[in-house]
Amino acid sequence: MNSVAHALLRAASILVSTLGVLTAQQTTFEFHSNFWVNLHHFLYKQAVAKSPEQSDSEAWNHAVEVYRTDITKHELLSRDISGINIALAQIENTESLKGSGIDAELTQTLERAAPIYKARWWPQHNRANLDWIATATPLVAKYETVMKKELSAAYQTPWPADPIRTDVAEYASWAGAYTVLDPTHITISSGPVSQAVVESLFHEASHGMIQKISDALTAELDSQKKLFQRRAFWHAVLFYTAGEVAQRNLDDYTMFGIKNSVLDRGWPGALPILEKDWKPYLDGKIDLATAVHRLVTDYGVAK
Ligand SMILES: [Zn+2]
Repeated sequence: MNSVAHALLRAASILVSTLGVLTAQQTTFEFHSNFWVNLHHFLYKQAVAKSPEQSDSEAWNHAVEVYRTDITKHELLSRDISGINIALAQIENTESLKGSGIDAELTQTLERAAPIYKARWWPQHNRANLDWIATATPLVAKYETVMKKELSAAYQTPWPADPIRTDVAEYASWAGAYTVLDPTHITISSGPVSQAVVESLFHEASHGMIQKISDALTAELDSQKKLFQRRAFWHAVLFYTAGEVAQRNLDDYTMFGIKNSVLDRGWPGALPILEKDWKPYLDGKIDLATAVHRLVTDYGVAK
């Protein structure tokens, strides 16, 4: 090949790779920036805030008051409140909540607060959500194949056939993200996007896939007549699993279970046990039953 042909080829491959970045698509998560979901979460945030945003709108202040006295008595993740979120997610940015299934009183409260939110906060929140989606999409596209393959293997559970509905919102609980199941529905905050977003999304998706592992842990506890030192130890296993798979595949990355000391704070003493008993399973060196037996032996205490 002559040098002109080389140069042309090089130009073509640069073009292809540029287009590749611009058009990177992913099929694991179905991202949405939904007006009603964002209004609901922003009202929740205002209702729990020490110094909420001031407004001279009676409709807005009433909505914040309803959320303060009624809605925020429950976690966003609770059955009642997540039901509202799921209903709102079905309404695609229309003016009315008719037919949403949400009770008449809350419907009226939200519909009356909507114009104030739309004028004052939504443009900025929507822009942040869309920017988040544009930045997170190529990151997910880069890692989704390997993350899904390794997590499916770890949980011994097939990955869901359909993309996982994921709502992006300015506020998404104190934890920054949460997931409700059947079907899996993620809500995640539009905070800064870094590699940690990959772990975060696949951690949330893991909530829909951990059942087999958590059942195995429960059965093994029964047979050894033990309890775990801290409750919901399956969640520590999930943190470690999603974190370890992310750590293996992302560049120069530390799982947030370790980086943010989530594991140490939630399950003191569990990290060295996960490294010793669970990592060999993730590495394919021991089977699930052996790993589960060792976890219960090492992190369980007599009933
Ligand atoms: Zn979790």
